[in-house]
Amino acid sequence: MQAITAIKPHLQTPKNIVITTHPKPDGDAMGSSLGLYHYLLLKGHNVHVITPTDYPFFLHWLPGNGEVLVYTERKDESDHLIAAADFIFCLDFNGLRRINGMGEVVGASKAKKVMIDHHLEPENFDDYRLWNAGACATAELVYDFMVQMGDKELLNKQIASCLYCGIMTDSGSFRFSSVTAHLHRVVADLIEVGADNARIHELVYDTYSEKRTRFLGYCLKDKLQIFPEYRTALIALTKQDLQDYEVSSGDTEGIVNYALSINNIKFAAIIIDRNEIVKLSLRSKGEFPANEVAKKYFEGGGHHNAAGGQSSLSLEETVQKFISALPEYKELLNV
Ligand code: 5GP
Ligand code: MN
Repeated sequence: MQAITAIKPHLQTPKNIVITTHPKPDGDAMGSSLGLYHYLLLKGHNVHVITPTDYPFFLHWLPGNGEVLVYTERKDESDHLIAAADFIFCLDFNGLRRINGMGEVVGASKAKKVMIDHHLEPENFDDYRLWNAGACATAELVYDFMVQMGDKELLNKQIASCLYCGIMTDSGSFRFSSVTAHLHRVVADLIEVGADNARIHELVYDTYSEKRTRFLGYCLKDKLQIFPEYRTALIALTKQDLQDYEVSSGDTEGIVNYALSINNIKFAAIIIDRNEIVKLSLRSKGEFPANEVAKKYFEGGGHHNAAGGQSSLSLEETVQKFISALPEYKELLNV
């Protein structure tokens, strides 16, 4: 595996390129993928973005959204593109198991794999790598990639809007400790070439349906459980809850942060009974490692303060498993 700069000579002539990212892509997964997409198009390559699953409506405004292939909806076409690719860029994840059934197809492709990512513990499936766990967002790394390729002057409004979306969402609107002076300089460049910061914030955060807002009320009033001795808050949602409020992809995003926003709460979880599996989103404040809990108990991982995982147990059993794990962390949660 080589540093990503070694790829430069290979991208001098047009190549078949696939860009992919993690399932249920978030603002950074889509923003970084589409930002890179527009850049590589400008360089004359034949580029396709393929996502393992669909993604929330509040990301559909992103430039290039109409060209994205969702693997589960267009499998044959995607398999063909993956098999025929010269390069596959893997963004915002670092292990092929993370991308479901697509992982095997990507692994089997003769294409060189390029990892651009900021999650801990990358696996070794890639040929070229731009990895920095200190980066706030993969979108920040895509900007760095353009700079390292000597193409900073190719930044335009489309690329900048995509990258801004990734950075804004993964930084919690510029409030997390991962926000650095370097990141603000990157963002200054993005705004300078046309990223409309106020508009992008509105498109992502202020476009929910009335039903979704009432659903948030329901979660906070009727579903929120607090475990004061463990400084932990939990919201568990049944299939019926999702049906009653016609909850769609992305509607549950961000709700866990309300649980975490309570004074003295250090650890918050939302556990959701999805179609085939139970999904968990975990968030923490300060030193408490949400990713360790995700890894140890829920086949997951992620960042120190924002992680996720899953369980093949029932919702009730998963909730019990979560609650039973808390005593182990009692001391850490009470520092
Ligand atoms: P979210 O809770 O927003 O779905 O995810 C938060 C963070 O945890 C993201 O950085 C995401 O990549 C990571 N994450 C979420 N689900 C999983 C999972 O099932 N496995 C792993 N390894 N990471 C996950
Ligand atoms: Mn990310």
